[in-house]
Amino acid sequence: MNKIKILPESVYAKIAAGEVIERPASIVRELIDNSIDAASSEIIIEAENGGIKKISVVDNGAGIEKEDLPLALSKHATSKIENVDDLLKIKTMGFRGEALSSIEAISKLTLSSNTDIKGEKPGYKVNNFGEGEGKVLPVAHKKGTRVEIEDIFYNIPARKKFLKSVTSEWNVLKNQVISKVLGNFDISFKLYNNNSTVFFTQGDSDFSKAFFAIYRNETPFTINYYEKVINDKLKISVYYSSPDVFFSNRRYEALYVNKRPVLLNFFYAAIDSGIRDYISPGRHPLAFVYIDIDPDLIDVNIHPAKKEIKFIDQNSIFLSIQSVLAGAMSCLVKRELYDTGIEAVGITMENNQRQLEFEDMGNDKTDSHKSYFNEVVLNQKPAYIKNEGNASSERYYEIFGVAFDTYIVVQKDDKIILIDQHAACERIIYNKKKELYSQNKSSEQLVIPILIDIEKWDKENQEKINMLNNNGFDIERGEGDTVVVRGAPSILLNKKDYDESVEIIKNYIETASEKKRDENIIDSFLIDASCKEAIKKGDKLTLLEIAEIVDEYFKTDEINCPHGRPIHFELTKEYLEKIFQRRK
Ligand code: ADP
Ligand code: MG
Repeated sequence: MNKIKILPESVYAKIAAGEVIERPASIVRELIDNSIDAASSEIIIEAENGGIKKISVVDNGAGIEKEDLPLALSKHATSKIENVDDLLKIKTMGFRGEALSSIEAISKLTLSSNTDIKGEKPGYKVNNFGEGEGKVLPVAHKKGTRVEIEDIFYNIPARKKFLKSVTSEWNVLKNQVISKVLGNFDISFKLYNNNSTVFFTQGDSDFSKAFFAIYRNETPFTINYYEKVINDKLKISVYYSSPDVFFSNRRYEALYVNKRPVLLNFFYAAIDSGIRDYISPGRHPLAFVYIDIDPDLIDVNIHPAKKEIKFIDQNSIFLSIQSVLAGAMSCLVKRELYDTGIEAVGITMENNQRQLEFEDMGNDKTDSHKSYFNEVVLNQKPAYIKNEGNASSERYYEIFGVAFDTYIVVQKDDKIILIDQHAACERIIYNKKKELYSQNKSSEQLVIPILIDIEKWDKENQEKINMLNNNGFDIERGEGDTVVVRGAPSILLNKKDYDESVEIIKNYIETASEKKRDENIIDSFLIDASCKEAIKKGDKLTLLEIAEIVDEYFKTDEINCPHGRPIHFELTKEYLEKIFQRRK
């Protein structure tokens, strides 16, 4: 074994530099970060031979004071943090104060800068090689900073050997720039390679423009935006393609945390589970996800190149990304649904216009429609619907369709539930009517009395009319075999025409058995009315109607319709597993 020796500073610096600077692209990353931190609105990057020969980054940011120029190149020199506590609230891209010194250790570097906005004072430069090495000298320079690097690893042949071909270094460098541009599309970027323009972005905060300025060969498609403020410490936004635009790989999926492109081991899984219901497996959307999070809740200090970060609560980040993607997709699909009036799913307008009756009773139609569910999935046939929340929430369920135009098939918790559409609808309407009646038992006089013909007038009819009149009606015998309805409980009159009320009264007077006469008349009328208003067995329902019925039904406690018939039937997962002999 050799003797232990302390490494000379010059050797140590070169080893340490390798942690931050692996290749030309790392230099570009660090320099762009510095320009961003200096509040630049324009950054110009030039490369020669894939950056191996030369890289320069010029910005129009704050600049570096003359006396700070040599400092900027020294180790652990930073203007961005002062103490350990500052590490917990990093808002800048850089903070370690080791980029420039690392780059300086492994290349020929010239740093020029000017802080004077008026352009009256000269700029200054410092370099680490050749003539004037280490001296601060005046130079013509507009406000901002220019860092020029030549001959990467010229002084560490062992590392230079590991550089790849010019082409592959260039590709990595270009992708590094692109990833910065798409994290900062409020900044204008220009990228040149061997003196020719690669791309140029406006920096006008328009993601789509920036994207297509970079990927000029991509056939244009719409890029949508969606955002969700999870709480005051966390906001997630996403630029994404519509479900009909997808790619065979993940080249357009990226995550930014506080504008920093990061790798997160569960990012792709979160995207995939968010879009699962909209895009088939193996197809990938464009999805640029931006997390704005309180720096308190992350640790960016775990990776020297800051490519990885750690969230305090990884699980909730996963769920948030997933739900933002699902929300984003569903929002598009829903928009389509509203725009095209349901025809998109092959259900006719006529059907759509027939609002469910229980909505007529007070709810604001358009809003209630939207709030009933938040995801309508149309890209699969049969279309199915998921309600709000994620799989672990108590109210979560999925609707698979309607069997025999009668039984809505729902998966909830560990059960498959078949819901009789008529019975459920009847129960919902009845509950609402009853609720309304309990709030308002008043009667109304009719402006124009209703005449009802009955089969044959007899004494029993009079008894029934008396009974009705004891319950809020104002009915009297008319000429011949008729009765005149002058007033009725308001609850039975809130429809535009009185056809149903007439039928109910006529039916009661003509056919009610003796027993029924003693029952709560109004209640039985409400049941009859609900039954008439409810959608029927065999009615073809729109997605919105199905979603409403299921949603409303799950809010009730009753499991029978007002006539006493069951509303739903359950098959437990356990039962299915037994049947299919998956368990004993
Ligand atoms: P860090 O970014 O971690 O602070 P660097 O070594 O990258 O460390 O930069 C050192 C310092 O040099 C920065 O803190 C900053 O004050 C200054 N600096 C570097 N690049 C620029 C730039 N483009 N514009 C203005 N100041 C810069
Ligand atoms: Mg830096």
